[in-house]
Amino acid sequence: MTIKDNLLNYFINRWGMYEYTRGWLKGDCPYCGREDKFGVHIGQNRSHCFVCDGGERPLKVVARIEKVNIKEALKLIGTFEGLKFKESEVVEYEKKPVILPEGFVPLNLGQGQLGKSARAYIVNKRKLDPQVLASKGFGYCESGPLFGYIIMPYYIRGVLVYYQTRNFMGTGPKFNNPKIEDFGIGKSSLIYNQDSLWVYKSTHIVESIFNAETIGDNAIAIAGKSLSNIQWSTIVSSPVERITIALDPDAFYTKALPLAFSLIPHKQVKLLRLPNNQDVNSIGRTSTMQLKRRAAYLSYAELLKIKHNYEREAYYET
Ligand SMILES: [Zn+2]
Repeated sequence: MTIKDNLLNYFINRWGMYEYTRGWLKGDCPYCGREDKFGVHIGQNRSHCFVCDGGERPLKVVARIEKVNIKEALKLIGTFEGLKFKESEVVEYEKKPVILPEGFVPLNLGQGQLGKSARAYIVNKRKLDPQVLASKGFGYCESGPLFGYIIMPYYIRGVLVYYQTRNFMGTGPKFNNPKIEDFGIGKSSLIYNQDSLWVYKSTHIVESIFNAETIGDNAIAIAGKSLSNIQWSTIVSSPVERITIALDPDAFYTKALPLAFSLIPHKQVKLLRLPNNQDVNSIGRTSTMQLKRRAAYLSYAELLKIKHNYEREAYYET
């Protein structure tokens, strides 16, 4: 038994974690307590919480959970045995041409019930225009494994590179996005509406495609709450000059502020704080633009001040 074996057994048997993907164990966060948001990567000797950003090397996590020092933690995990740790191999995925899924129909076409349901979802739930989205290549599937899903394509210089999906029928999982092994690329290395960074001087960074489409042509979606390295360098190296950050408000402090700090040496930055439990799509374009007009492009000192004000606010709330 090696230390890695012991750690694996400890996190699975004592802390109730389970094996997830690419070498990650998943389970509850010992820092903030949120369920199923904490990852431990024994092979890379690290851990991370997707809610509170907490994380230390796995042995320190053990010490924290057990309220002991490192030496005692080491001794304690020695009693956890059984499973054997396997290094997860680094997989290089082969790039494959991306094609639209089986059964794809453009969003504005199809007079049957399915087409009507797809358009009703876009109009009623998302307050967006199916004709506009159809002109950007949106569609839905009337057969195949993505039956009942909206298809939202990503293009780079006009070439289809990926698509995201959204269930509009209510049965099955909400999303059914292509996996990395399908096309050799995942959404964390792509930006929705990336080409617009070369067209407009000003853009908006939002989380989801529906958020981006709520704003219009000069908005990009990062499909998450923070930028991957490749997304960050694409944005920074693009000619876009002014950026308005409008992420969902739950991640204002942990994600939107750090994002603003990372962009401010390179671009003019506005940072919006949306009302609790809302996003750009739910408050709509008009309210988002009102928030934007009231916000100013920030200096580094002003950004620091926002951070400190937020911390003071959080301090007095608790
Ligand atoms: Zn946490």
